[in-house]
Amino acid sequence: MTNLLKLPLAELCADDGVLTTRYLAIGESQSLVAMVWAAWAFGLAIANQLLSQELARRASLPTDWPQCPKCHCRLRSKGLRPRQIQTLVGLVHFSRRVGRCRNGCKGLMVAPLDQELGLDLYQQTSQEVVKLGCLLAVFVPFDTATVLLKQLTGVNLNATTVWNWVQSLGMKAMEQLEQELALLNSGIEPSEEERSPELKQMPLIIGADGVMVPMRPLEKTPKGKTIWREVKVAILTRLGSRLSCTGKQISRLYHRRMVAILGDIDSLRPLLWLEALRQGLKTAECVVWISDGGRGFWRLYHECFANWAIAILDFYHAAQNLWKAAAAALDGRTTKARQWFKLVRHQLRHGESEQVIAQLAHAIEWSQFPKSVMNTLTNVHDYLHTHREHIKYKRFKEWGLPRGSGMVESACKWLIQQRFKGVGMRWSEDGFNHLLHLRLAFVNDRFDNLFLVSVNPSSTAKCDRLF
Ligand SMILES: [Zn+2]
Repeated sequence: MTNLLKLPLAELCADDGVLTTRYLAIGESQSLVAMVWAAWAFGLAIANQLLSQELARRASLPTDWPQCPKCHCRLRSKGLRPRQIQTLVGLVHFSRRVGRCRNGCKGLMVAPLDQELGLDLYQQTSQEVVKLGCLLAVFVPFDTATVLLKQLTGVNLNATTVWNWVQSLGMKAMEQLEQELALLNSGIEPSEEERSPELKQMPLIIGADGVMVPMRPLEKTPKGKTIWREVKVAILTRLGSRLSCTGKQISRLYHRRMVAILGDIDSLRPLLWLEALRQGLKTAECVVWISDGGRGFWRLYHECFANWAIAILDFYHAAQNLWKAAAAALDGRTTKARQWFKLVRHQLRHGESEQVIAQLAHAIEWSQFPKSVMNTLTNVHDYLHTHREHIKYKRFKEWGLPRGSGMVESACKWLIQQRFKGVGMRWSEDGFNHLLHLRLAFVNDRFDNLFLVSVNPSSTAKCDRLF
């Protein structure tokens, strides 16, 4: 590919109307902004030229014709046929040889260069544009994604095109996940994800939450009243810290990985287990399950993680329960109730959870409260007693672990809230799932893998059916 390099710029431009116009526009620009845009447009035109020339060069190389898959004779060239493809640097036109079976086997026409370039038969857009479109759609509505794409690259697409890409890539992500789950089901555990030695030493934090999404009530039509369905979201992350500008240690989550499903906790379980294995559940020095009161999530903990993880009940949630007891027994409007609450919350925070539970037990045994108050006190007591190993907050603090599940919950909410709950948004089940899996792929650092183009340089490549 020496043609362009050999030519001085002026000579190059003289040969090409678009290049000349764009080159001259740089000199005619008044403001810096205009100059930058003109130079940008010129750069795009140059890149487009380079691509066209290189494709023409490759098309001129001798073709190693593959065999006809039906009669196994070598295919024969039928001459050059034009093709165009939308790329990041504009529409690129090129011609390449197509071949047919010498024996005239029906329906067979092959373009080996297309295969070498990793182009599918009906592909109109080059993969880097598809990737950018999908990436934008992961964060903003489809309409906005096309506007941004136009602004950023000059590539003009409609929202339906981007929507279609998201459906097909999302489906691909879901299929990959299904395959991994099938392997796990057959007893093959996934290999652990690579991570740095520093990350390996940090505690692995696991938490989950439920988030509601607005869905369409009927398939294929936006009509009808919105129904809200719950998405179960879980996060697996390493807990580290960083220094703030005032020199204070602040907790920070690293290496965030998320799983999510439109469904119940039982449907979340296999996904979470798969990801936990990948994130080093069995090799981490310290694994922590942290959750608020949601009963289903604690069941999940007992079923899957009790053997591996320390569990922490969200402190604010535990304290809230103590307030319920204070409000019931001492009347929530009184100073006495507030003082008692303050005292027990302090005890809870500073390693005296057993004393707090004992106080509740004592009150239940010796006080003369009405039945409804007794019920509340008993509920709170039983709740904290059940979680007595999960409320040793002083110990958790000494181990550098968090008291609250806030970080975990906000990460879970963000995954859904930021993209799926915009004004007027309502989702079909498939539409939601496909975009969700693309979004997960992005958050989990697996987005690029979805866009690996399979290039097949071998001349024995399987034949495309062109007609
Ligand atoms: Zn044939």
